[in-house]
Amino acid sequence: MEDLAPRLKVGTLVLSQGERTVIGRIDHAIESNLPASVASALNGKITCRQVSQRAGITLDEMLRLVSQLDTANLLDTTSTKITVERFHSSHPSRSSHNNDDSNDGAYKQLQSRIAPELTFTTWLDNVKDGGVELIANRRNYDVTVIGRSRVATLLYGILLASGVSETNLQPLRGNATINDQDMCGGYLHASDIGLSLKTRAEELSREISLFPLPATHEKKENRSLQHIVVCVGAPDPDQLQKWMSDGTPHLLIEDPECASINIGPLVLPGKTPCWRCICLAREDQNNSWHDIALQRIAAGASEVPVSVAHHVAGLIALEILRFIDIGKSELIGNSVRMSYHTPLDLEHRLHARHPACGCNW
Ligand SMILES: [Zn+2]
Repeated sequence: MEDLAPRLKVGTLVLSQGERTVIGRIDHAIESNLPASVASALNGKITCRQVSQRAGITLDEMLRLVSQLDTANLLDTTSTKITVERFHSSHPSRSSHNNDDSNDGAYKQLQSRIAPELTFTTWLDNVKDGGVELIANRRNYDVTVIGRSRVATLLYGILLASGVSETNLQPLRGNATINDQDMCGGYLHASDIGLSLKTRAEELSREISLFPLPATHEKKENRSLQHIVVCVGAPDPDQLQKWMSDGTPHLLIEDPECASINIGPLVLPGKTPCWRCICLAREDQNNSWHDIALQRIAAGASEVPVSVAHHVAGLIALEILRFIDIGKSELIGNSVRMSYHTPLDLEHRLHARHPACGCNW
């Protein structure tokens, strides 16, 4: 440990209060008798031994502080380098590339854009490398956003910009074209009206994606990606059956109902309640449910207001990123109903597997 160069996690506060130093976050901190300058010196560039020598304290005192900080999850002690796949021209006279990226504009832009993403991952439990490995790992997930709505297009862009490079957008059924309702302060503009949603989304992916994408975005056959589906709107029964039999995790967002929208659950096939479990439970609880469902299908889906679209897309993106990063989500076996008028007061519903549903066997 003495020859490691640990780094205080981004945002950690170091406060000098009389004889003691308080180091941590607003909600969680440790105290030390060492001067504040010792903790502030932990910047990942100099070793514990060097810090102790410069501060005139014993190595033991230094290591005790580092151990305390590490236990409190306030330190990054390892580093991970992100390998970025670069797409160089195959032209024989192209300029050659060396490994020094210090003057590479695209590389600098990536570093700048990745910094805010790291503030999400570095503060997760047991992360010691500043969150870099988790962000890099987001490229190993293939997320299909299904739906033809504001929420679906916004979510598509957010996931790409958050490092989930293999995100793709598919209309619920058939070919969808971009229309007036898609203008909601997102990635689509008036000049896109009438174009194919799927094609335009693919074109935009190169601009939006955190990690560089090739000109023609083709999935790497030799990479095994983990598939996740987010379905915005009533799912097609055949598709549902396929996700269940493939074991594909799928998050379901229902069509809006008056001024509210149901988000979830995230179904882990064979492990957590599925969509059919929920439908059967609803029918048990309410005799009219079948008629309600039919009437909602006949009425068709309505679009959500712009503010709701951004709020819901952001909320779903955070849950999907947490699921990708650490395998957890509040939406596993759970759904929330959000009223447009009280967006911070979510109504949580815990679901159970239905004994009559085949997914239970
Ligand atoms: Zn089920």
